Amino acid sequence: MNEFKIIEKYFKPLTKGDKAAQNLADDVARISLKKSEELIVSKDMIVENVHFLRKDGAFKIASKLLRSNLSDLASAGATPLYYVLGFSKNSSLDEKFISEFARGLKSVQDEFCLCLIGGDTVSSNQLFFSVTIFGSVKKGKILSRALAKNGDLIFVSGSIGDAFLGLNSHFTSLNNKEKNYLLERHFFPTPRIKLGKKLLEKNLSNCATDVSDGLLADLRHICQSSKLDAEIYQNKILFSAAAKKVLEKDTSLSALKMLSGGDDYELIFSAAKKDLKKIVALSKALQLDLTCIGEFKKSSNKTFEVTLRDEKNRKIKIEKFGYEH
Ligand code: ADP
Ligand code: MG
Repeated sequence: MNEFKIIEKYFKPLTKGDKAAQNLADDVARISLKKSEELIVSKDMIVENVHFLRKDGAFKIASKLLRSNLSDLASAGATPLYYVLGFSKNSSLDEKFISEFARGLKSVQDEFCLCLIGGDTVSSNQLFFSVTIFGSVKKGKILSRALAKNGDLIFVSGSIGDAFLGLNSHFTSLNNKEKNYLLERHFFPTPRIKLGKKLLEKNLSNCATDVSDGLLADLRHICQSSKLDAEIYQNKILFSAAAKKVLEKDTSLSALKMLSGGDDYELIFSAAKKDLKKIVALSKALQLDLTCIGEFKKSSNKTFEVTLRDEKNRKIKIEKFGYEH
């Protein structure tokens, strides 16, 4: 299929006729903004055999790409608006792949209310895809990595480590339902868009990041940006029932590996101690676990580090914080 046929048949429907896309018939897309808003932008890029395998299937590849990009908007507390798509193709890609890719994008679009407004298509031996996503926030109302305060509590949404287990197939002790749960968590992460927006709306936080490289590595990013240390407790971190079962049965796995495993796309955020009850109420309203795992502290030696402690308050040595690019 040539580039123009692909665009016409598979990508144009994803614009839902939105005028920003200009029918995919111009050189540019055109985004209108309200005066009181700021445009938030993030880009993700994935390469075959590094970030995805062809055998995963185009539906999953596309879903994960757009979902993980949406997670960046979630960590800013932004509302998704639009995205543009970089698409590489070669003769080994059949039409089925392209149509499944488009179907994967559509399913995420439908869930998070955004649409495609442009992109570029190239031919290449190596497959790679890229999404640049655009969202909006009210002017000045954005979650940032740099705004944690000394004494703030550290919260994490959802459970940690499932996506890592899904990727690494620690499945021997699990039944089909549990296996599927972990695989779904890997391929279809849930960007915490609602949570990010509510934290801003309710003035509960102005500091967040999403867990893409690993809980420890991403928390360390907040520490370095906010110039604080973080003290967290391993026994406070929430693991799913399936993950707990793997941890019990599989001796090759440690909780520490799950904390540096990455791809969770949960949010880490800070909140003042006085707002603890409000966070509990928000957790109920969103039907999403929001777990306090520790606290930000002034850094005495300016290392801006994460300290992980066991149930007896002993320091756990961390060899690897997360995935490095
Ligand atoms: P140019 O040559 O000016 O870069 P193209 O011919 O590549 O423009 O693209 C024509 C139109 O098709 C543009 O509106 C562009 O945004 C759109 N387009 C091209 N590739 C994609 C894609 N992968 N996804 C969405 N839109 C695309
Ligand atoms: Mg082009």
